[in-house]
Amino acid sequence: MADAKVLPGKPVARALLEVTLERAERFTQKKKRLPKLAVLTSEDPSALSYLKSIRSTASKAGVALDEFPMKTSATTSSVVNGISQLNRANDVDGILIQTPVPENIDFRALAKALNPDKDVDGITPTQAGILFHGVKGAFAPSTARACIEILDYYKIALQGAEVVVLGRSIIVGRPVALLALSRNATVTWCHTKTAALPTVCRRAEILIAAVGKPNLVNVSFVRAGATVIDVGINVDENGKLTGDVDVPSISNIAAAYTPVPGGVGPVTVSCLFANVLDAAEGLKAE
Ligand code: NAD
Repeated sequence: MADAKVLPGKPVARALLEVTLERAERFTQKKKRLPKLAVLTSEDPSALSYLKSIRSTASKAGVALDEFPMKTSATTSSVVNGISQLNRANDVDGILIQTPVPENIDFRALAKALNPDKDVDGITPTQAGILFHGVKGAFAPSTARACIEILDYYKIALQGAEVVVLGRSIIVGRPVALLALSRNATVTWCHTKTAALPTVCRRAEILIAAVGKPNLVNVSFVRAGATVIDVGINVDENGKLTGDVDVPSISNIAAAYTPVPGGVGPVTVSCLFANVLDAAEGLKAE
């Protein structure tokens, strides 16, 4: 097989952002205010880098941004109180709680405190439940939605396809598998305890790697002609960003793959703002 095709995220992100901006302009005209996203920010380096992209994308999406730092000295109850205020604020349409939260804070308590109608990253039990039910109108976590947007943009069909998802976190692995299932893919989930991992991954026509282990996915994981979506973000000893996929190893066998950086990352930010507009427009589950 010839060299695999690269599937850059930028055109996907741009197309999504264009639509989001139009929706934001219509919203602003009607409501006489900008749609607004409130972010509870984490001090973790990966969260800070995501925050930088959120800041630079907000104005391009026509969305106002309010930031509330979660200091390491914060307590679960102080953050829950802050969330309750944002839940009641009429000018706040979406709330994002960045992870990882400080160690002494109970993330699940925060997720439960969040108003599901403002849960633009799909972490509340209500939104996760809507996704589980497979009905339209759930706020899927932005990264999970981004994987599906990329496949749609590049016209890689999910229906009937063998999809293998590596990873089972609540913000990526689980929701992306459920989204693929709701699009009629045949889905397999893999994780740290999966036996014969490469063999299972080789079933995939679409392999989605969301692990956080550089170069884990090599030629032995990839079926000839597969599409590989690399969600992983890893920083090597030289500060260079890499994904979970060993690109030189897979590029003669895969049909296509998303690069890191420049693949899933930019699309994730665009999906976040698309979710904010869904919330501002009052999206409800069917
Ligand atoms: P996580 O640590 O919560 O979950 C990792 C998952 O991978 C777990 O379910 C675990 O079972 C599985 N796993 C770990 N090691 C494994 C192994 N050797 N074999 C098989 N499975 C294994 O991480 P997460 O929050 O889901 O993020 C995953 C990766 O995606 C990270 O690198 C993260 O930085 C990246 N990420 C990227 C974006 C983006 O926009 N591109 C957004 C969120 C997360």
